[in-house]
Amino acid sequence: MSLFEEVASLRRTSAEEVASAATAEAVAALRVRYLGRRGALRSLFDRIRELPEEERRQAGRMLNELKDAVTAALQERLRLLAPTTRQEVLTEDLSYPGRRPRLGRLHPLTQTIDEIVATFGRLGFSLAHGPDVELAYYNFDALNTPPGYVSRSSSDTFYISDEVVLRTQTSPVQIRVMEKQPPPVQVISVGRCYRPDAVDATHCFMFHQVEGLMVGEDVTFADLKGVLTLFYREYLGPDVRVRFLPHFFPFTEPSAEVHMSCVFCQGAGCSVCGRSGWVEGAGCGMVDPNVFAAVGYDAERYTGFAFGLGIERMCMLRHRINDIRLFFENDVRFLEQF
Ligand SMILES: [Zn+2]
Repeated sequence: MSLFEEVASLRRTSAEEVASAATAEAVAALRVRYLGRRGALRSLFDRIRELPEEERRQAGRMLNELKDAVTAALQERLRLLAPTTRQEVLTEDLSYPGRRPRLGRLHPLTQTIDEIVATFGRLGFSLAHGPDVELAYYNFDALNTPPGYVSRSSSDTFYISDEVVLRTQTSPVQIRVMEKQPPPVQVISVGRCYRPDAVDATHCFMFHQVEGLMVGEDVTFADLKGVLTLFYREYLGPDVRVRFLPHFFPFTEPSAEVHMSCVFCQGAGCSVCGRSGWVEGAGCGMVDPNVFAAVGYDAERYTGFAFGLGIERMCMLRHRINDIRLFFENDVRFLEQF
């Protein structure tokens, strides 16, 4: 290739390469490559003396023009690159309102569960777990609930097969814990439960329960009353009053329903408490000897109490929420209030 062709070629490629240099560093590298002491232009200048005398002047002029053009192109490219960040800053409209980051938060039921677990933790209860999909044996038989009992009917229980159900309560965790360890036992278990209830303001086919179980020598009904009263005062306030009414559950004897003084009307009577001044809080009782028999505990030596309370209900009372469906509709306007 003749020197003149090489100059023409370098003019094209240098213009392209400089134009596509993306950073100041790339521009500096091109400057070395074209204009450096061992650069492309220097080697072309060196070849001028190989040309015939009459062509040297023209070649020198062309090379000087190319050198000026490359120098100018590199400078211009650098100027375009350097102020880029500054230009970007200036194109931001600083008077535009800021965008508030959306902060996530725990679901109100999760907050309630965390608080209940912490409260019972301070009373000495540790946390136990059991499966949502449960054997009918753990959900019913071991809990002194024989076949034919009303809560075992398919209108009260979701059956996966004759032997497998969606647990209707957290009570089967009692059996699973006692099967694995000798007394003393002091656990709570928290989780989802399922019943084929029609959905309305106070019912849902899925809800959460916290289960408590304490077994040992000389555990009495007074301990049960003390633990639940302490819990309700801690959760709903020191002024809440608690009463125990005789009730029936197959796995406790005697059994009781726990009522709290209505937090909405302080016991005076309102629409929430049906003008009675009391609201239902939990089911509880002393563990039935038949349950101890199912897990091999000596019912003559050990006694214990158990209780189960609805978490949605606790959260609704605390926050004065009037519809259980709000927990599961995932409406951010509701959820972000907690
Ligand atoms: Zn009331």
